[in-house]
Amino acid sequence: EVRVRFAPSPTGALHIGGVRTALYNYLFARKTNGKFLLRIEDTDQTRFVPGAEEYIKEALDWLGINPDESPWNPGDCGPYRQSERKPMYMQYALDLVEKGHAYYAFDTAEELDAMRERLTAARVVSPQYNSITRTQMKNSLTLPEDEVKARLASGEPYVIRIKIPRKEEVRLNDLIRGWVMVHSSTLDDKVLMKSDGMPTYHLANIVDDHLMGITHVIRGEEWLPSAPLHVLLYKYFGWEDTMPQFAHLPLLLKPDGNGKLSKRDADKQGFPIFPMEWTDPNSGEKAMGFREQGYLKEALINFLAFLGWNPGDQREMFSLEELVDAFSIERIGKSGTKFDINKAKWYNEQYLRAKSDEELAVYLMADLEQEGIQIEGDKAVQIAHIMKERITFSADLWKEGKFMLIAPTTFDEAVASKRWNQDAVTVLNAYNEKLTAFSGVLNPETAKSLLEAAAEENGIKLGKVMQAVRLATTGVGAGPDLMAVFSIIGKEELSQRITFALA
Ligand code: GLU
Repeated sequence: EVRVRFAPSPTGALHIGGVRTALYNYLFARKTNGKFLLRIEDTDQTRFVPGAEEYIKEALDWLGINPDESPWNPGDCGPYRQSERKPMYMQYALDLVEKGHAYYAFDTAEELDAMRERLTAARVVSPQYNSITRTQMKNSLTLPEDEVKARLASGEPYVIRIKIPRKEEVRLNDLIRGWVMVHSSTLDDKVLMKSDGMPTYHLANIVDDHLMGITHVIRGEEWLPSAPLHVLLYKYFGWEDTMPQFAHLPLLLKPDGNGKLSKRDADKQGFPIFPMEWTDPNSGEKAMGFREQGYLKEALINFLAFLGWNPGDQREMFSLEELVDAFSIERIGKSGTKFDINKAKWYNEQYLRAKSDEELAVYLMADLEQEGIQIEGDKAVQIAHIMKERITFSADLWKEGKFMLIAPTTFDEAVASKRWNQDAVTVLNAYNEKLTAFSGVLNPETAKSLLEAAAEENGIKLGKVMQAVRLATTGVGAGPDLMAVFSIIGKEELSQRITFALA
């Protein structure tokens, strides 16, 4: 059975790259009738941010990416928070010590700093605690056995480090990138167990993936450099046979394709990078999320699914269920994918258009209530109907459609200077008279025939004054079908607007 996991660290807001990882794991689990787990990786207490875990839960809830097993919905492999699993890890680290694949190290922070300085002075590009430096440092490989025992017994602080072999090729067959080969001389003796008795990410991640029966590790490309170390850990634990398969997802790139997407790019260009609004508990700083900007969850999911994956044909619109059906790891790309917010907007437009006028009217009515404006529900449906093709977010119904509910007090000067003339005044006057005399219901057809008659009787071509008519009645030079707009505005108000414009 396939078992995959999303393993976020609660170190801040879950950003959109994390949501994509969660989504791909979810899709793969559903597609294969497997299980999707969520594990909170909170072993680094110094980076813990209050509220981050709740945020992760709420964001996934909103999007409907629901884990089968999680801290809130535990299965048989709990606990699902690493901090609550703390007592389990030490035995695994000790097992590696015993097998000779890990060792105690007693170096103080000052000694480690001195080592780095020494190496930097010797022009070592990236100073590491590795197979060479470890022979000069204070650890159980360099100290007599008795001394090691005595230090441990006296309670001296220590860490446990992995002993990376000096010359070995570490290979892994990534499902997306194919064979990845790394020479062990480029790896360092990473800490597995910290001096506070907490495991590091590397140890806890591998132990938990093993204990939780994870079959596939689908995660961001930023973890690829850690993968060789993880492969070694599986080997040293003797878990090679059940080692998960790796699939490292392509990087999300800046909109222009130059480098990795960052929160700064988002801020600079004014697009959200978080699924939902996030308030940083340290700075109190608020960041808009996709949800608050008015993105529909269907649109966001569809957009995210295509950030690195495609179905191999021209189809672009996929519901979550359809994604499950179409999804495969083989169709995930290797190269970074540009984060194009316009594509997210496009998706939102498509999903809004697919809604009925009545559904859209509900959004508009909610906004109107906020504004303290009352209209008949029927009018909201009509507004939704004519605005549907012109909106990106549901809030645009009010923002872009308010001219139908509020009479203009100013008129676009640029349009006026080009289009306003005596013919327009003549037609508008005649139209106003006809409207006043008209006893029927103003609908798009009657609105049009009265206007046509007003133009014709004065020998004026309607097309020549149409934009001026729009300007006089709505204040601007462009918008949806004007006759439909008139029928929404209604006879009396339309007449008042014309009177005001001509005054
Ligand atoms: N805790 C890691 C993170 O925050 C998980 C990486 C992994 O999936 O192995 O992304």
